[in-house]
Amino acid sequence: MELKIAGLVNDSIVDGPGIRFSVFVQGCPHHCYGCHNPQTWDFDGGQLMSVDEIFERIKKNPLLDGVTFSGGEPFCQCAGLIELADRIAALKTPKLNIMCYTGYEIEYLIKNSNEQNKYIELLKRLDYLVDGEFDINKKSYELKFMGSSNQRFIDVKASLAQKKIVLAKDPWQDPLL
Ligand code: SF4
Repeated sequence: MELKIAGLVNDSIVDGPGIRFSVFVQGCPHHCYGCHNPQTWDFDGGQLMSVDEIFERIKKNPLLDGVTFSGGEPFCQCAGLIELADRIAALKTPKLNIMCYTGYEIEYLIKNSNEQNKYIELLKRLDYLVDGEFDINKKSYELKFMGSSNQRFIDVKASLAQKKIVLAKDPWQDPLL
């Protein structure tokens, strides 16, 4: 399977806790005012890359704590990211957590998931989700890894299990991270 990619970063320290491999997908329908990555909006831009190739690059970096899906809008490319997430989860060492950014709110993704868009299938494979569009009126530099205060850093597995939004308590000091 292939993903439409805007860029890959091998050792990011700004896209989540620890050292992360960041996958920036191409294409975003949200068009938030003040977006830092407007070059990722165009669904016709970017380049196609196989999940195999991306996974091989991830495997080559022994220093990683996790992988982040960002963009662009990752939930527009669920099928490819599900395949990539399954490969990452099957890795014995290093054990990598998976974090994802989305312009959608998690409630929307759960309510509107279907066979075709596979929102829920991607959610099930995530550890952490930063949700919601970037709102320039709520922009804050105080927020670690989030752009505006309407966004939430969600513990996805706990939220799905408890059927309510569970925020990651202190993800920056979470020993799992
Ligand atoms: S969802 Fe993210 S990538 Fe898309 S327009 Fe908003 S800030 Fe930019």
